[in-house]
Amino acid sequence: MLWREHDFVKGDGITKAEFEKTRQMQEKVESQKFLEEIKGLIEEDIEGVACKELSCVETPTVVGLGDAFAEGCFMDSGRNGKTKEVTKMYETTKNLMHMAKKQHTAVIAFICMDYTMARAVAYGAEAAGKPAIIMLYPDHVKTFHTAGFAGYAKMAKELAEEVSVPVGFHCDHDFSKEGVLRTAEAGFDSVMMDASEYDLEENIRRTGEVVEQLHEKGVSVEGEIGHVGLACEGQETQKDLYTKPEAARKFCEETKVDALAISIGNAHGAYKETPQLDMERLEAIAEATDTPLVLHGGSGIPDEQLQEAFEKGICKFNLGTDYLARYYEAVEDFIKESKERKILLK
Ligand SMILES: [Zn+2]
Repeated sequence: MLWREHDFVKGDGITKAEFEKTRQMQEKVESQKFLEEIKGLIEEDIEGVACKELSCVETPTVVGLGDAFAEGCFMDSGRNGKTKEVTKMYETTKNLMHMAKKQHTAVIAFICMDYTMARAVAYGAEAAGKPAIIMLYPDHVKTFHTAGFAGYAKMAKELAEEVSVPVGFHCDHDFSKEGVLRTAEAGFDSVMMDASEYDLEENIRRTGEVVEQLHEKGVSVEGEIGHVGLACEGQETQKDLYTKPEAARKFCEETKVDALAISIGNAHGAYKETPQLDMERLEAIAEATDTPLVLHGGSGIPDEQLQEAFEKGICKFNLGTDYLARYYEAVEDFIKESKERKILLK
């Protein structure tokens, strides 16, 4: 995990032989179940990280969602659709988004690559008294092998049932029908079908087909229109990628998606300059459709802009880069301290 090929290839001056040596070390380390041990040992630290992460994006409106929960107005997992007081629960992402929408706020979805990160979100949410979403990024299964789909779904549900705030789970960007169907089959009740690379008609066709199949199974689907690009390429400023309100209306009506990711000046990864969300566009999109709106690329957007975006229609807010960076820092600190204590040498 920490010694991914990806990082080393990008790094300066590492030779092939050094890389091979590192790869062998990784294999050895994994075979010794080092990762499981380390996770168990750092859990407490990571919980602290998640609490800080939650409070750094805390806004009065997010607190409002917590209040709604405290008043017991969250719906029970949709089994009978009735409102009832809850004390301990897993909640569907779909319901969490609808409650957030009613309260003009957003629920935060954290990308979690493994159990430690997911557990930190569940317990961090409980400590903050707010709902949260544990979110899988499919590449963490397919490329980095830090989780498996079915195991992740089970783990997220189990964690949600351990805490006293509503916690949901969701699978982020997948780009093919086969991909989302596999994820749903593995136990996810909320997935994302991202066909935003295609033109509007093709995006509608591909997304609509998935929605039709998954709604029959009670699985909700997030789509994307316009295109949320990469911050490292400055794509948040490319207005031709922004979501058009009229296209959003047509897309939601025809596909019947449960949530819509929009592009309004946001991008994935770390921004080079402070992003400026197009609030007028957000208002126009929220006017054009009742579908809950999702903001991707949440890391690095100033709190004031987030608060305004939540008030104007963003119901789910995806956070990956910031949280992963905090996690890596915490793991690095832990390794450093552990080496000093010689724990790893035993
Ligand atoms: Zn995204």
